[in-house]
Amino acid sequence: MARPPRTISLVIPIYFEEAVIEIFYGRTLEALASISSEFELELIFVNDGSADRSLEILQTLRERDARVKVLNLSRNFGHQIAVSAGIDHALGDVVVIIDADLQDPPEVILEMLAKWREGYKVVYGVRTERKGENAFKLITANVFYRILDALSDIRIPRDTGDFRLMDRVVVESLREMREESRYIRGMVSWLGFKQCGVAYVRDPRYAGKTKYTLRKMIRFAFNGITSFSEKPLILAGWLGLFITAGGFAFLFYVIIGKILRPDTVVSGWASLMGIVIFF
Ligand code: UDP
Ligand code: MG
Repeated sequence: MARPPRTISLVIPIYFEEAVIEIFYGRTLEALASISSEFELELIFVNDGSADRSLEILQTLRERDARVKVLNLSRNFGHQIAVSAGIDHALGDVVVIIDADLQDPPEVILEMLAKWREGYKVVYGVRTERKGENAFKLITANVFYRILDALSDIRIPRDTGDFRLMDRVVVESLREMREESRYIRGMVSWLGFKQCGVAYVRDPRYAGKTKYTLRKMIRFAFNGITSFSEKPLILAGWLGLFITAGGFAFLFYVIIGKILRPDTVVSGWASLMGIVIFF
């Protein structure tokens, strides 16, 4: 059999996913069976410091299947860095970022490929519905994407995650962006190129719990906003200026009071106020 002309790489971050890896693997192979004559498959699993059996399961898969590659990070660096490590090693003509928990249905990759064949360089998944998420996650996510939309200097499509397909040209550009605080979906928007979305229903997690703790979510949101907007910085600057100006106005009032009516001012008050305001 001749080798397929192109390669598709899947980048799959793994953090305590022992319960889903094999199911993910099976379902993904099945979903992509129809493109096997066109694409050679590369599955890059990035173990992001899991301390469960994830690595062991991945190594077993790799022994069975040469299309499986395993990157093992030295500790837990977080989803965005795990994905970036995978992208750095992906050889594909197209690269897909996909979660291991089957919340991103692998069947959607076929629709993404159809758009790619039409000439789009980035095809991102747009969640029309998010099943099995708790009210807290839905509300905080909604508020966050609205705030980011209002603040950010570039347009980052709403209701999209990192589930996306990227052409090699985009991957090469993305690889040149070495920032440490990474908000990948924003970086890909910033890069430009012809982009479009495909709608999909985000399924509930197949098994296990979310690995995005509140702390990780807050850090992620903070990275998103500070990386793509200078507005918080400008706001902080104006606030500082406003407070300083107010302080100096009051200092002026204190000094004038001291000069014009020295007797009405308690001795030592003006100098004390001067020092306080200065600080
Ligand atoms: N993940 C990771 N490192 C982390 C947290 C999560 O590699 O520190 C992986 C996780 O294994 C999964 C993907 O990132 O494949 C998305 O995480 P999760 O499903 O827990 O987040 P949610 O879908 O709830 O936002
Ligand atoms: Mg998930």
